[in-house]
Amino acid sequence: MSLKKENLNLILMGPPGAGKGTQAKMMVDKYGIPQISTGDLLRAAISSGSELGKKVQAFVTSGALVPDDLVVSVLLNRLSDPDCQAGFVLDGFPRTVCQADSLGKAMKDRKMIVHGTIAIEVPDQELIDRLTGRRICKDCATSFHLKFSAPKKEGICDKCGGELLQRKDDSFEVISNRLNVYHKQTQPLIEYYRKLKILHLVDGLGQIEMIFAKVCDIIQGLNPSDSSKIKI
Ligand code: AMP
Repeated sequence: MSLKKENLNLILMGPPGAGKGTQAKMMVDKYGIPQISTGDLLRAAISSGSELGKKVQAFVTSGALVPDDLVVSVLLNRLSDPDCQAGFVLDGFPRTVCQADSLGKAMKDRKMIVHGTIAIEVPDQELIDRLTGRRICKDCATSFHLKFSAPKKEGICDKCGGELLQRKDDSFEVISNRLNVYHKQTQPLIEYYRKLKILHLVDGLGQIEMIFAKVCDIIQGLNPSDSSKIKI
């Protein structure tokens, strides 16, 4: 049965390749809240050739973090859209303590709160295996894996027939860089949200549906109307 949680504001954390995008899409379907992926927003800016796209391209291709001021303004703009008023799941934001502070302040200004941060945990070697084999449809963005979920026809999307491409930042060198960046700059946020008492850890190894069941259990335990314990 589909459960709708009104005004459910969530953060989905985890290293690159942990399955944040996949889990976020399942949350969109089940809870009817939009997935806000800063990675997707930045890639769209790059594809459109906008000023913002030109500014962020080199960071994204090398696996470095886009400067906080740029990514915070992209995120806050998106959060102002009407579809975010009834809740959202942040995928890939925040990635630094500065971003988390900016989010906390913006939420407070808007008299909103984050109800939960769900952090998916996966060991580095598994992440490298997952990311180097990942292929994404250039038309519908469906994700495949050469070993774990290969398309029926090589290089072609099962869903829409589009061409499957490897993201430039899924090469081994860039992945190593992205993992270093994650451990140095993003992992401290685990403690940050633990201290705020809104952290929930999920083991990201195993079947996608099994992981999603754990995510749903966590969401079931959140009470959007009870903001008394939430300090953000
Ligand atoms: P993702 O699709 O989430 O793996 O993000 C792809 C790339 O976009 C990252 O490697 C960064 O270069 C950039 N990016 C996405 N989200 C952020 C963020 N919150 N802060 C800084 N850079 C980001």
